Amino acid sequence: MTKVLIVEDETRLAHWVQAFFEKDGFETVLAHDGQSGLRLALTEMPDLVVLDIMLPKMDGMTICTRLRRESDVPIIMVTAKDKEAERIKGLNIGADDYVTKPFSPAELVARAKALLRRTRGQARQLLTADDLELDISAQICSLNGETVSLTPTQFKILETLMRHPNQVLSREQILEKAFTDGLDLLDRTIDAHIRRIRKQIEADPKNPVFIQSVYGSGYKFIG
Ligand code: CA
Repeated sequence: MTKVLIVEDETRLAHWVQAFFEKDGFETVLAHDGQSGLRLALTEMPDLVVLDIMLPKMDGMTICTRLRRESDVPIIMVTAKDKEAERIKGLNIGADDYVTKPFSPAELVARAKALLRRTRGQARQLLTADDLELDISAQICSLNGETVSLTPTQFKILETLMRHPNQVLSREQILEKAFTDGLDLLDRTIDAHIRRIRKQIEADPKNPVFIQSVYGSGYKFIG
């Protein structure tokens, strides 16, 4: 399910927008102030963020700047009417699109879908970290130029981790992101797959440098 984070302090507007996204099959997360907006953007791993500019605790521009240091998540900014400078600044600091208030939630959802199509089409096809390389279109993993054999499931798990470098992903998040088609994997089977992936890509699987375990939380790819 595609998850959208809506950061908007006007509660009624937030719920209205939320209803439109949910009607269209999106999963939604709401934040009513800037601080929790940034925190949820980093922990909930949304597929898209709708970001108001004027927010209590931390404004949308600051959130956008901070978020861009760690994430490529598509961002749609919600700006005030007649504030061209605001829109330009937003786009310059990494927002992907904007709507101006007052906006139609139906249009916002349509823009969100268009943006997701665009950014998904551009998803990087070659992921690298040191001498580890993952060629997504060819489905080939190589280490130091030597092909490493991974099952499709392991490949998908590694791809998911590599697309979110230096972020802790819970087992549940890995499952959710890697297997959108609802493959029936159990949380703990993730551990078994990770062990096998480590055997293939880590020089010393007991002291992994690529895939680190984060006690009580999940896994983090260092890249
Ligand atoms: Ca606001």
